[in-house]
Amino acid sequence: MQARGLAVKKASAPLESFSFERRALGAYDVALDISYAGICHSDIHQAREEWGPAIFPMVPGHEIVGVVREIGPSVTKFSIGDSIGVGVFIDSCRVCVNCISGLQQYCLEGMTGTYNTLERDGSTVAYGGYSNVFVIDEKYAVHVPKNLPATGVAPLLCAGITLYSPLRHWGAKKGMKVGIMGLGGLGHMGVKFAAAMGAHVTVLSHSPAKKSDALAMGAHDFVSTKDISALKPLASTFDLILNTVSAELDINAYLNLLKLDGTLVVIGLPGKPYAVNVGTLLGARRSMAGSMIGGIPELQEMLNFCGEHNIVSDVEVIKADYVNTAYDRTVASDVKYRFVIDASTF
Ligand code: NAP
Ligand code: ZN
Ligand code: ZN
Repeated sequence: MQARGLAVKKASAPLESFSFERRALGAYDVALDISYAGICHSDIHQAREEWGPAIFPMVPGHEIVGVVREIGPSVTKFSIGDSIGVGVFIDSCRVCVNCISGLQQYCLEGMTGTYNTLERDGSTVAYGGYSNVFVIDEKYAVHVPKNLPATGVAPLLCAGITLYSPLRHWGAKKGMKVGIMGLGGLGHMGVKFAAAMGAHVTVLSHSPAKKSDALAMGAHDFVSTKDISALKPLASTFDLILNTVSAELDINAYLNLLKLDGTLVVIGLPGKPYAVNVGTLLGARRSMAGSMIGGIPELQEMLNFCGEHNIVSDVEVIKADYVNTAYDRTVASDVKYRFVIDASTF
């Protein structure tokens, strides 16, 4: 299937127009016309090879929302015309213990990413969502609630699930104090979800100008971390902290904010290791954990939750020719709060 979109031809090069072939529709495949594709900071990390060697040309994009245009003969989950979402992976081994549990993101063979990887045949390059059409096995796509606007839905497919999953896993609820580090694409979804789950939410941000937005999204408190001494009075007060920061920072200053048995979940992936002060962990039986997106059943659960609670991402809709500027603005923490590309402009 002929497709057009944007690609990075080599590490850190600007995105440019690119025409390419998608695989032909298989028996269980669904073809979709993409409506919108979100820009995740992970796209930038990979396009700039901040996570190690990447595959070029690269068509980034793993926050995809669209409309089903064609289905393979064995497809039962979708019909033509359905609203459909595709996230961070397009396949996995399907037989390991984690895949069978619906936790395909933790597939023991490694999930098959939406781009910057080879498909499971070992030879077809996977191209992502900055394009006009997509082909995916029905098992790895999800239904989008009809009441939600497609623009604000696209970022749910990565930013949304990545915060929803740890909030559910660590049991965010009324009476819990949750901290969200970084009010970007991921962080702002964390604020909305944690507030909807009834937790007390504090945003820890190095951008003081984001305070009023954070409170409007449902945060109860906002702390500027520009002066790191502002964290001192918060020592030993949080049950759960989700770190969505895309840059390096002193993690110990944040671990110290956890109560007895509290957990700091690392979600941001700057690409460099942290220097953890073990004394800070054992001084209050604190834990540091990691969490990566969510599996297909939880992705659908999260979208249904959004449909019920009317939750979408706050977005700036852009045209294809603005994407390179959008990358620079994202790195500068200057986006409210996710860039979403209008796929009709590819
Ligand atoms: P983003 O929109 O750029 O947000 C990152 C936020 O981090 C910024 O808005 C900013 O928030 C804060 N920040 C940035 N630079 C900083 C600095 N120098 N010092 C302190 N804070 C800084 O990025 P995103 O798309 O939300 O992604 C965040 C990270 O999560 C990325 O590393 C991405 O690769 C990773 N990620 C992980 C998963 C997963 O499954 N674990 C999934 C998707 C993405 P303030 O302005 O409020 O300080
Ligand atoms: Zn992402
Ligand atoms: Zn597996």
